[in-house]
Amino acid sequence: MKDYLVRGIVKEHHCRVFACQTTELLEVARQKHGLWPTASAALGRLMSVTLMMGAMNKNNEKLTVTVNGGGPIGTMLATTNSDGKIKAFVSNPEVHYTYNDTGKLAVGVAVGREGTLQVIKDMGLKDPFCGSVELQSGEIGDDFSYYFMVSEQVPSVVSVGVLVNDTNEILSSGGFIIQLLPDHTEEDIEYIENIMKDFKPVSTLIHEGKTPEQIIEMIFDDVEFLETQDLFFECDCSKEKLSQALITVGHDELQTMIEEDHGCEMTCHFCNTQYQFNEDELKDLMQ
Ligand SMILES: [Zn+2]
Repeated sequence: MKDYLVRGIVKEHHCRVFACQTTELLEVARQKHGLWPTASAALGRLMSVTLMMGAMNKNNEKLTVTVNGGGPIGTMLATTNSDGKIKAFVSNPEVHYTYNDTGKLAVGVAVGREGTLQVIKDMGLKDPFCGSVELQSGEIGDDFSYYFMVSEQVPSVVSVGVLVNDTNEILSSGGFIIQLLPDHTEEDIEYIENIMKDFKPVSTLIHEGKTPEQIIEMIFDDVEFLETQDLFFECDCSKEKLSQALITVGHDELQTMIEEDHGCEMTCHFCNTQYQFNEDELKDLMQ
């Protein structure tokens, strides 16, 4: 089933909702990056939240989210133009930890929690919006709830999850966000807290075949869905773009590549595509 997200509003409880399924695009990312299960879970959670945050933007602005928790996974980065396409990477894809008591993928251990979650929204104005908070648990969902509260003053429930099978393939990935609108009441908070207490993990629900709409309808009776958007893992790199990066290494370095290596290979961080540059192409860059 293809990946998509939905956006909706719940008038009775004064909140807006987002839900997404990202199983296919996480599988694409897993294959491109060679992600081990806990790294898959961490990056899948991050991509789900980033795509839903993209859907909060009206103007297709560029959104970049970076998580750096000091854990073995290193830096995680996801970026989208709020058009349903996302690209992302982790510094170290070969990371796998589970919690001893439950056997669950230990995302918080892999990510670490000594560091920050940073969000940059580039609206094409002079100064991009930049918000940053300390990580709370490194489990991603909690960290974004905290981010929305502290940095954007919006009380939010953020639930994201990933299931991986025995051969490391992605079984399910996705999540939802509930955000209280300014006119919300104490009753709305209580209603949501009560339902969330015994709510099944979102990764389990997706694996059971529940759609994003059905998951939201398990929480609220009166959702008005406003929009859906198809989601993809897609990198916009090209040899042209990588050559621009090569120019910045400088004349001397290019000269060395030509004389000693007779060419060079550049790898895109976001999708691992390799681009070869031969001697003549490097000479052109030196013009
Ligand atoms: Zn790329």
